[in-house]
Amino acid sequence: MPRRLAVANQKGGVGKTTTAVNLGAALAELGYRVLVVDLDPQGNATTGLGINARALESSIYDVILHDVPLEDVVEPTTLRNLFVVPATIDLAGAEIELVPLFSRELRLRRALETVDGDYDYTLIDCPPSLGLLTVNGLAAASEVLVPIQCEYYALEGLGQLLRNVNLVQANLNADLDVSTIVLTMYDARTRLAEQVADEVRQHFGSRVCRNIVPRTVRLSEAPSFGQPIIVFDPSSRGAIAYRELAKEVSGGAP
Ligand code: ADP
Ligand code: MG
Repeated sequence: MPRRLAVANQKGGVGKTTTAVNLGAALAELGYRVLVVDLDPQGNATTGLGINARALESSIYDVILHDVPLEDVVEPTTLRNLFVVPATIDLAGAEIELVPLFSRELRLRRALETVDGDYDYTLIDCPPSLGLLTVNGLAAASEVLVPIQCEYYALEGLGQLLRNVNLVQANLNADLDVSTIVLTMYDARTRLAEQVADEVRQHFGSRVCRNIVPRTVRLSEAPSFGQPIIVFDPSSRGAIAYRELAKEVSGGAP
């Protein structure tokens, strides 16, 4: 069964894009066909996967707003099984341009249905807000993956996210389920990181992945080279963490 995960948390800087790119890459390395959908106008997943946004003729914006077929905007990456639907800054206007459109919450879902079966994993990198773009991401997914930064205030705002997930579930997408919590930027030297991790586990139990992503500079350097960490520095701690996470999330190679 193909899986579609919305990587969501309305807080910025918690590791959504880093997780979408690097979990996607590690799943592709395991042998799954993976599509990363960049739903953030910042386009960080796009550039992080080595795509030059300025050279693109069309992007997710054209798919969602102007019914351009999704398969026409899919770009290959340096990894054989990894593909990306890129975003450009055009998408910044989409929150407002979507408002008057018919079935505005379901535009991405309809577009992804046209490539159903082509990918084992679709990872939707949501923007740091709970607006219409994120609603499109949640409506198009079967699961929500929530990255949580192991820092003070980590749990703040999570209630709001979960309420929105429930609203989408009740009104648009009965299948939706918060299946996966990923702890990110864990600094083993601090008591705080450990406390946050414990607290998140108390809340979410077995939905919290055993594998935790450590805070490491290499993970923050890789995007400026347009490479996932497993390509940029294959033996680094970040690469190992995302490889292990991919095995945990998928249950192993196909
Ligand atoms: P979001 O998409 O939630 O806004 P990002 O994935 O872009 O968050 O991460 C925010 C910043 O933190 C980026 O500069 C990224 O490179 C860096 N970063 C993400 N994960 C880690 C990590 N595990 N260790 C160190 N830096 C990280
Ligand atoms: Mg991001």
